[in-house]
Amino acid sequence: MTASRPVLVLLYQRVGLPWLFESAARAGIDLVLVPRPDEEVDPDRMPPAVVELLALDPVADPAHALETLRKQHAATPFDGIVTLYDPLVPFAAQVAELLGLPGIGLDVARGTQDKRVTRERLAAAGLNVPLFVRLDPADDPVQSVASAGLAYPVVVKPALGMSSLGVTRADSPATIGAIVAEVRRVSAGIADGGAGLLVEEYLDGPEFAVESLVHEGRVQILAIGFKGDPQGPYFEESVYRAPAELPEAVRAEVVREVTAAHAALGVAVGPTHTELRLRGGCDPYLLEMGARIGGSGVSHYIAEAVTGIDFAGQALRLAAGLPPARAVEAGLAEPVAAAANYIVPCGGHGTITAVHGIDALRADARVDHVVQMLVPGDLVRPYPDFTGYPAFVLSRHADLSEAEGFHAHLEAAVRIDYAPGPGPQDAS
Ligand code: ADP
Repeated sequence: MTASRPVLVLLYQRVGLPWLFESAARAGIDLVLVPRPDEEVDPDRMPPAVVELLALDPVADPAHALETLRKQHAATPFDGIVTLYDPLVPFAAQVAELLGLPGIGLDVARGTQDKRVTRERLAAAGLNVPLFVRLDPADDPVQSVASAGLAYPVVVKPALGMSSLGVTRADSPATIGAIVAEVRRVSAGIADGGAGLLVEEYLDGPEFAVESLVHEGRVQILAIGFKGDPQGPYFEESVYRAPAELPEAVRAEVVREVTAAHAALGVAVGPTHTELRLRGGCDPYLLEMGARIGGSGVSHYIAEAVTGIDFAGQALRLAAGLPPARAVEAGLAEPVAAAANYIVPCGGHGTITAVHGIDALRADARVDHVVQMLVPGDLVRPYPDFTGYPAFVLSRHADLSEAEGFHAHLEAAVRIDYAPGPGPQDAS
């Protein structure tokens, strides 16, 4: 008798991003893929490890999706459920909880997703949290900010947001009313219709991303990467370079704060993607922690290149209830190389007429992946609306200074041209 292979349901992973599929194949795990509703997956050309496609829309109809998965599990049991798509992290946790599969549980998942709850839980554990205030539709922004004792500049953001959508700096009481109205407008499409907002102190200092894996409560930090020093008023992502150069004492503080945040938020198993700023250059303040692999898999690419550890493979094994292939040890993993993601800036708005400098990169030995999301003909709306990032350039380097040099080259080499306004296909 042959033992059957473990099976995971994978929600909303785009097939053009290869890492999860490749890691699953290496780990000997089969995937039932629930494609994103806007993505057509050809059943004759399925990505590695995918054995079945399941059409479901857990964003539009979670109750129906839950019931379908319950029936599917009763007929052909699966071993776990995974997503890298932030809005579906609570749904995946709920399904796992209901079916007795490995996971963090619905309450923990909601706590990591809702920035108001995250802030409250971190504060209750005595961790660094900027002064903040919840802002509901009936609240007056000027008064709320004043009575919470917040000093300007402040940052206004949707409580359930992602991809920096609507996140905006406000510098004075004179502008905050209009900014709050604008943030509500651009975030109308998210889960609560943008009703719940958060206003918090502006954290001055460079930004970092931290990729971690948790097993039996032990938090292994695979990579700490530099994410630039965005000042706003809108916070477009730009670079990710790891391992970041940090004084030893500051690095230790980051490891301590991020490890403690897992305990405070109750994340006891699986991968996480944490973003933080070093206030004043040395004190880590979490912006958020996603209970998932970050950047639709980019975080796997970075962590794997930096440490040699198959981050996604480890995470998928834990999701299927298997022991990790390599022990998950508390603390910071030893870096063996450097890796980087260059996020091509929109650099303007209108209809894209040309993207210069991208094609040459596909043949560059340092570049492993060029992921292009926007092409000529696409309409880029002006900030604070968020159309998406034009492209990612993922590269591998011997050390950080080589990665920095490569990014300096990309800043000059990659450029987007626009024609004003919508193109013919966007005019309807
Ligand atoms: P999202 O989940 O939409 O990405 P975040 O809270 O992570 O929202 O904010 C997006 C970006 O905005 C951050 O990466 C950071 O650059 C900036 N930002 C958010 N909050 C603050 C803050 N309090 N101080 C300074 N910058 C902030």
